[in-house]
Order: sequence, then C-alpha cells, then structure tokens
Amino acid sequence: MSDSIEKLCGTGSGGMRSWRWYLSKVMRLFLRWFRLCPRRGRRKRSSRIRDLWNYGTVLLKSLYYNVQTNSDTVLDCVFEPIYWLVDNMTRWFGVVFVSLVIVLTSSIVIIVYLCVLPIIFSTYPVHWILWHLCYGHWNLLMLVFHYYKATTTCPGFPPQEKSDIPTVTICKKCIVPKPARTHHCSICNRCILKMDHHCPWLNNCVGHFNHRYFFSFCLYMTMGCVYCSISAKDMFLDAYDAIESSYQTPPPAFTHQERMVHKSLVYLWVLTSSVAVALGSLTLWHAVLITRGETSVERHINRRERKRLKLRGKIFRNPYHHGKINNWRRFFGVEKRSDWLTRVLLPSCHLPHGDGLTWDCPAYRNNTVAI
Ligand SMILES: [Zn+2]
Ligand SMILES: [Zn+2]
Repeated sequence: MSDSIEKLCGTGSGGMRSWRWYLSKVMRLFLRWFRLCPRRGRRKRSSRIRDLWNYGTVLLKSLYYNVQTNSDTVLDCVFEPIYWLVDNMTRWFGVVFVSLVIVLTSSIVIIVYLCVLPIIFSTYPVHWILWHLCYGHWNLLMLVFHYYKATTTCPGFPPQEKSDIPTVTICKKCIVPKPARTHHCSICNRCILKMDHHCPWLNNCVGHFNHRYFFSFCLYMTMGCVYCSISAKDMFLDAYDAIESSYQTPPPAFTHQERMVHKSLVYLWVLTSSVAVALGSLTLWHAVLITRGETSVERHINRRERKRLKLRGKIFRNPYHHGKINNWRRFFGVEKRSDWLTRVLLPSCHLPHGDGLTWDCPAYRNNTVAI
C-alpha cells in the first residue's frame, strides 16, 4: 500500500528513482529533439523546394496550356525563329521578285518590238502580220492587266469584330474566328479568305478576291511565252548559227547592231521557252485544282482526310466541288454564255462568286460528305 502511494507521489527511495527517471526522460527527449532538429529543417527545406518546383511547373504549364497542344505545336514553337526568318526574307524578296517580273517581261516586249516585229513585217504575208499584231497585243494587254490586278487586289480578310458569320475554328495567331476555307498566312501575318498560297512573284497572298487574276496571269503569261518561242523559233536558229559562225576564220562581217539582234533573239527564245515550261506546269497544276474545286491548301488537307476516312471504310467528298464545268463557271464568275467572252477573254474587274465568308456546299446539302 505504502509502495503504491510512494510510486504515485514520487517520494522516498522509489521517489528518488522516479526523479532520475524523469530527468533521464527529459534528457532523452531533448537529445531526440536536438537530433531531429536539423533533420526536420532539411525535410522542411527539401519539401519547400519541391513545393516551389511543383508550383513553378504548374505555373509554366498553365501559361502554355491548350487542349489542342500536341507534338506539332511543340515542333512549331521550336522552329518558330526559322519560320520568322523565312517569312521576313520572303516578304523582302517579294519586292525583288516583282521587280524581276517587270524587268524581264519588259525586256522581252522591247526585243519583240525592236527585233521580231521588223522581221515579221519584212518577210511575212499580210494575213500573218495582222494575226501577229492582233494576238500579240491582246495577249500583252491581258497579261499586264491580270498581273496588275493580282498584285494590287486585296485577297480578302475575315471580319475582326464579332459577327454572325458561321466559323469553323479560331486562328491561333490572330485570335479571331476563321470562316470555312480561311487560313492564316504567316508572311502577311493575317488570315486570308479562301487562301490558296502566298505568291512571292506577286508579293501578295492569293485568296478569294484575286485568285482569278492570279490564274489568268499565269495562263496569259504561259500563252505569251509559248507564242514568243514558237514565233521566234526560226529567227533563234538563224541567230544561233550566226553567233556560231562568228568563231570561224575569217569571221563573217556582221555589224554591231546585227550582233546585238542575234544575241537578243537567243536571249528571247531561251527565256520564253524556259518560262513556258516552268510556268506552264504550274498553270496546269492550278487548272487541275480548280477543276476539283480545291485550293492548294485544301489539296493537302483533303488528301489527309481522304486517307483517314479510307481507313474507316468511308469515302471523302470535297464539299466545295460543284462539278467540273460548274467549278470553272464559279471560278471565272461566268453566269451566262457571253460572259466567257466579256469576263474571261477580255479584261474584267467583276467580283468573284460569293463573299468568301459563307459557302453553299452541295455535298453537305445532300448529306454525302462521308459515306
Ligand atoms: Zn490568322
Ligand atoms: Zn500572304
């Protein structure tokens, strides 16, 4: 009984042990606290660093978070400086390219007037002279008119303010809604209605309002080059022989003016033949796209879509395809038969079919986009 009271009160011999025991207990606690102190500090510090790291990561991710983000977006970001450089260079090169088109075309026209036409006048019968005069001047007029219009006509931009126009997506660069067939041009740094491509030779984007001018320019330039290379073929062969013969001994007695004419005819034929082949191929490619009711940008998108649907056992149908002839009618803005003459074969400033913001799609109307 007394032992139990001693234990409870901590007095007596048992009380002395209890006091030591308490002291050792306090010392042990102190030591443990002392040992734990730096460990606890390290833990706090490491957890604080980890927290800061996690916070920073979340903050960084939140700044770039986008539900659409994928590997393509990451690659785009990585190559952004290169794109910027190419875009700026193309913008500046555009001025050089336009000057080149004007200088080279003018040089050919001058050679035709100074060298080719005098030979035609002196050697050809009257009906051929009339044909060359009429066709040559008509082709030149169409070429100059369409080049001027293609370079100066605005391709068309979507509205910047809020509107009721149906849109398909939002442009990542402009942060404005994009109507169907609209794409962003990184060189113009704007969204372009029914964008086909950015043409450095025009220093302008080819879009809804100048697509016809661009194609007509390509067509009339090709026709003009083919015309020049065919008309001047015999003259080129004679001039080439004359230049070759100048290396003979004794050299033929050509005057300085005759030698200049020979060189000019060779230059004319080589340049026009090369441009006829190169530009002819491009024009043919654009003619195929117009027949299919596609733009150059849509060609890639539709091909990808066609493959994707094929894997699912479905067939892709271009929603902007109205039939081969109708596509051409819409493209040239032909409404009645006489328009083929007044709007295609003569210079015309009429506006294209539609406003470039909304499109009537026969495939959608018949609900046969993918079957
Ligand atoms: Zn844009
Ligand atoms: Zn552009």
